[in-house]
Amino acid sequence: MNSSIVMAGGGIGGLAAAWRCAEAGVNVRLFERAPAFTEVGAGIQLGPNVTRMVQAWGLDAALQAVAAYPALLQVRQALSGQVTGQLRWGDDALARYGAPYVTLHRADLHQLLLDALHAQGRVRLHLNQGVKGYTLETQGLQVQLDDGAAVHADALVGADGLWSRVRAQRLGDAPARFSGHLAYRAMLVQADLPAALRSHQVTVWLGPQLHVVQYPVRRGELLNVVAIVHGQAPQDLSSWDHSANAADLQRALGAVCPALQALIDAVPAWRLWPVCDRPPLHSAAELAQGRVALLGDAAHPMRPYLAQGAGMALEDADALGRCLALPEGDLPAQLAQYAQMRWQRNARVQQRAIRNGQIFHAQGLLRWGRDTATRLLGERLLDVPWLYNGP
Ligand SMILES: Cc1cc2nc3c(=O)[nH]c(=O)nc-3n(C[C@H](O)[C@H](O)[C@H](O)COP(=O)(O)OP(=O)(O)OC[C@H]3O[C@@H](n4cnc5c(N)ncnc54)[C@H](O)[C@@H]3O)c2cc1C
Repeated sequence: MNSSIVMAGGGIGGLAAAWRCAEAGVNVRLFERAPAFTEVGAGIQLGPNVTRMVQAWGLDAALQAVAAYPALLQVRQALSGQVTGQLRWGDDALARYGAPYVTLHRADLHQLLLDALHAQGRVRLHLNQGVKGYTLETQGLQVQLDDGAAVHADALVGADGLWSRVRAQRLGDAPARFSGHLAYRAMLVQADLPAALRSHQVTVWLGPQLHVVQYPVRRGELLNVVAIVHGQAPQDLSSWDHSANAADLQRALGAVCPALQALIDAVPAWRLWPVCDRPPLHSAAELAQGRVALLGDAAHPMRPYLAQGAGMALEDADALGRCLALPEGDLPAQLAQYAQMRWQRNARVQQRAIRNGQIFHAQGLLRWGRDTATRLLGERLLDVPWLYNGP
C-alpha cells in the first residue's frame, strides 16, 4: 500500500512538495490554514539553480507565460547613483548555467504550482484548516486540526512557514528572530511610470544601513520595488504585511541620489514586512526525525539578501519527492535521507544571506572595501556558482 503524508501549509514550498510527493506515488493531503490559496503582491527572484529544476518538472512554458527574464543585474550606490558593478544574466546565464535567471510575481509562481497540482489531480487539498499538532502512534501519527478533527498519516511535513506550529512541537525552540531590518515593498505598473523609471533589469542600490532592489515581474508589465532599512519591529511580528508610512521610510533612507529618489517618490503606497530569520541549521535532525519533517521557511527561514528563501523551499520539495520515490527504506529512513541531502546547503545559503546583509548595509571602511572589490572583480564577485550550479 502507498504511504500517506499530511502536508501542513500551502505556500510555495508546501504546494511544490505536495505535488512532487504525489508524483512519487505518495498519498498526500494538504491542509492550508487560510481560506484561499493566495500570495501577497510582492516579487520573487529565482536563480538558475531553481529554474533548471522547474524546467525538469515540465513547467517551463508556464514559467515563460508569467516571468520576466532580466538580462542584467546592476549594482549602484544609493547616495551617488554611481554604477559599481554588474552581472550579465540573459543568454549569459543560459551559457553559464544552462537555465535562466527569472523574476516573477509571487502570486504567479503560486498559481503555476497550484495549476500543476490541479492538473495532476492526486493531492487532496483542504482550505481553512490549520494543523494544530500531532501525536505519534505505533504505526504513523495522528494530525490534529484547528477544527478539532484529526487525521491519520504515515508522516507529517511542516511547510507552515516562519511561525510553524509543526516546528514548535517537534523542536520546541524559540520563535524566529527579528533581524532589525524592515522591508518596504511596492508593485508599480510600468506603463504608468515615466520612461526614465521603467526598467527590465535587476538593480540593487546599496547605501549605509539600507538597500533597495527593483526588478520587473509579470512579463515586465510590473516593477517590484523593495527598500530595506534598519528599524524597530512592528508589534505583530507574525504578520508580514503591515501598511507602511512613506515618511518613516524616507527618514530611514535619508538623502539618496535623484534617480533613486525619483523611484521612491513614484510609489503611491508601501507595505511593510519585518525581516525575520533563524540561525543557520546545524544538523540534519533539525530537518527531519522519525515521521516528522520540515521544509522551506518552517525549517530554515533566511534573510532575503541572496533571494533564495523560496528557491530553497522548492529545492527541498524536489529532494523530498526524490527521497520518497526511492524503492528502498521505510518512510522515516526516506525522510532522514531528505534531511541529509538538504541541511548543509540550506545552512550555507542562510549563512551567506546574513553575510550579504552586512555587506549590503556596510558603512565606513567596509563599505569602501566592498565598492572597490565590486569595481575590480565585477562579475567574479557578484556571481555565485556554487549556488547556481546546485543543488
Ligand atoms: C522581502 C522579502 C523578499 C524575498 N525575496 C525572495 C526572492 O527574491 N527569492 C526567493 O527565493 N525568496 C525570497 N524571499 C523568501 C520567500 O518569500 C520565502 O522563503 C518563501 O515564501 C517560503 O515559502 P514557504 O512555503 O516555506 O512558507 P510560506 O510562504 O510562509 O507559506 C506557509 C503557508 O503555511 C500556511 N500555514 C501557516 N501555519 C499553518 C498551519 N498551522 N496549518 C496549515 N497551514 C499553515 C500559511 O498560511 C502559508 O500559506 C523573500 C522574503 C522576503 C521577506
